[in-house]
Amino acid sequence: MLQEKLFATTGDATQPDPGRKPPPPVPGRVPVLLPYPFAGPFDYAPPAGDALAPGDIVLVPLNRRQEAGVVWDAPSGPSVAAAKLKPVTARLDAPALPAPLRRFIDWVAAYTLSAPGEVLAMALRVNALTPPLPVPGFLAADPLPNAPITEPRRRVLHVLADRIARTTPDLARLSGASPAVIRAMAQAGQLLPTPIPAPPAFLPPDPFFFDPALSAEQSAIAASLRGAVVEDAFSVTLLDGVTGSGKTEMYLEAVAACLEAGRQSLILLPEIALSAQFLARFARRFGVAPALWHSDLSSRTRRITYRAVADGTARVVVGARSALFLPFGELGLVVVDEEHETAFKQEDGVVYHARDMAVVRARLSAAPAILVSATPSLETLANVEAGRYRHLKLTARHGGARLPEVTAIDLRDHAPDRGKFLSPTLIAAVRETLAAGEQAMFFLNRRGYAPLTLCRACGHRLQCPNCTAWLVEHRARHALACHHCGHHEPIPPACPICKAEGTLAPIGPGVERITEEVDALFPEARRLVMASDTMPGPQAAADAARAIEAREVDLIIGTQIVAKGWHFPHLTLVGVVDADLGLAGGDLRAAERTVQLLHQVAGRAGRAEAPGRVLLQTFSPEHPVMQALVANDLAAFFVREAEARRPGNWPPYGRLAALIVSADTADAADLYARDLGRAAPGGDGVLVLGPAPAPLAILRGRHRRRLLLKTRRDIAVQPLLRAWLAAVQPARGVRVDVDVDPVSFL
Ligand code: ADP
Ligand code: ZN
Repeated sequence: MLQEKLFATTGDATQPDPGRKPPPPVPGRVPVLLPYPFAGPFDYAPPAGDALAPGDIVLVPLNRRQEAGVVWDAPSGPSVAAAKLKPVTARLDAPALPAPLRRFIDWVAAYTLSAPGEVLAMALRVNALTPPLPVPGFLAADPLPNAPITEPRRRVLHVLADRIARTTPDLARLSGASPAVIRAMAQAGQLLPTPIPAPPAFLPPDPFFFDPALSAEQSAIAASLRGAVVEDAFSVTLLDGVTGSGKTEMYLEAVAACLEAGRQSLILLPEIALSAQFLARFARRFGVAPALWHSDLSSRTRRITYRAVADGTARVVVGARSALFLPFGELGLVVVDEEHETAFKQEDGVVYHARDMAVVRARLSAAPAILVSATPSLETLANVEAGRYRHLKLTARHGGARLPEVTAIDLRDHAPDRGKFLSPTLIAAVRETLAAGEQAMFFLNRRGYAPLTLCRACGHRLQCPNCTAWLVEHRARHALACHHCGHHEPIPPACPICKAEGTLAPIGPGVERITEEVDALFPEARRLVMASDTMPGPQAAADAARAIEAREVDLIIGTQIVAKGWHFPHLTLVGVVDADLGLAGGDLRAAERTVQLLHQVAGRAGRAEAPGRVLLQTFSPEHPVMQALVANDLAAFFVREAEARRPGNWPPYGRLAALIVSADTADAADLYARDLGRAAPGGDGVLVLGPAPAPLAILRGRHRRRLLLKTRRDIAVQPLLRAWLAAVQPARGVRVDVDVDPVSFL
């Protein structure tokens, strides 16, 4: 009951925890949570002679295997007779999971209707359980055995005279002897193998390293953010302000306060590609780089970082959403930059929204959270309006840089040439920009060459064999690809249906096609394409950003990756190739997301002295989204948007949860979806929509149906979902995925 009350009042996780303390431990029983989808921890008998505490990482027998798990606070699974309990095998030499992290894991599991073990798996999947190995090195034997000492050997011994162990490469470099000499000396017993402990992986950032001169407005905001950190209590602040106003600078002040207070900070970024520019900036402010956490880290770096977070040597972590599950011992601040980003929603496995869970993480650690955006989500604005979040706003761009002027180009009056996608107006503007020695950017949020390939003879459209989706042409790779399941195939020489040759035609543009058009129009310009598939890793993004800053590039062509927080001082023109793109499809947040994305893209222009301008190619300049962007009045747009959602209890004024049924056959999916529909909860303030075929009716060969539960804001969805799902069990091969607070409706 307590738990349900928690949900009812804290879907936004801002209320104090109403004392959900775990029950007291039972003597003689050690509950161990394993990283698998079991209902709860299993009980084991304590190991002989080793007192275990909650959070300890242990090895236990499970189905004749040994598995690593975590000592949990109290049993929750069915209880086994004490005599039948198997003992814990051993405690592992790995940092324990602190209590706030354990409570967080329980909270995420309960909120998302996942098994606690599945959530634990995210905290343990870090491959951090084995300690990083010490580096092998050598010392000189003392006394030296009777073996010949050649001149190179003498030099090696000379280097080691200070009795500091060194690795083979270091020894070779310092002595000028070859590695073979060092190997021979080891064989002869002249050198003794000596492990060298790893040096501290992270140096402490210095909060006083660089003291930025702040404007009056910035000073007031920095003081307020520092105040929240010093309070040392849970609070949430929305830090809002136009692009380029210094929001990053401001939250780095909060990080400085947190460093001064001797606590750790976590900064979540939506796109780790961002990190390069951000890291350079961090180093300028604090003298050293922060610890990084994302899925591309090597396993060694992962292990080192995990331990450094646990033992407190990593003071500031900059990471993707999985960084929420790191074992911070003294978390004192959580920052979510670009909080409106949908990339914070994890859609696979445990489906959770990292922005919301960051707030929960802060609350369970009694720490302040700062949500940062130039285009805050409606969810966050509603929390501000309700008085749950504080609101700080920067109104001016730093250094007097003006906001770019946004103009719509009506494609009905300014049509591109046949088969082309850039209007004469946009082309002329780019010419002017290039002539002035400035940079221009084309934005189109679509990868590949063309989103659809059609046979001009029979009208056949090339479709993914596994999904309800068109295949996207990737001309550079000579392939057609499905952006949903990863299927790809060569471009066929003839239509697979009518066998006509040379009739397959690309329909619509992707960035590759725009690049082709741009190359033909501006052959002299040096251009760079930024798309997630052509720029897969953080390093590629870093190189691109550096080249742009260094003016080695004139034209940038990019997908949504260019919208993210970059600071390009010489970029003065942004052309949005298809401003209407995100408005199709009609999902709940289509307009909100389009405004946010296009405003972010626009914010890349004119960040330094030269003023920027933004041209939006659209077929509907009268649309409220275009009007808001042109008038640069997002506040009015958000008020309208809020008024549209309030009456129907749509988020953020109501709650949503989606059930996605999937099965090998359409019949099996329909059968279970209909059963669910019949058992749907009802009553005042509760509504179930569906079942209906999902827009992606087939995905990876599985047939999908959706149901949507909508409740009034004061009604929690979790207890309803639990009872509902318990009432109708799926048949074999049928699954149901739960998505609380869905962002994607595909
Ligand atoms: P936002 O995060 O709001 O987009 P940034 O923090 O990136 O804004 O600031 C925009 C640019 O202005 C950056 O290059 C930043 O270093 C610079 N800047 C902002 N405030 C100051 C300041 N007080 N002193 C020096 N540079 C500043
Ligand atoms: Zn597919």
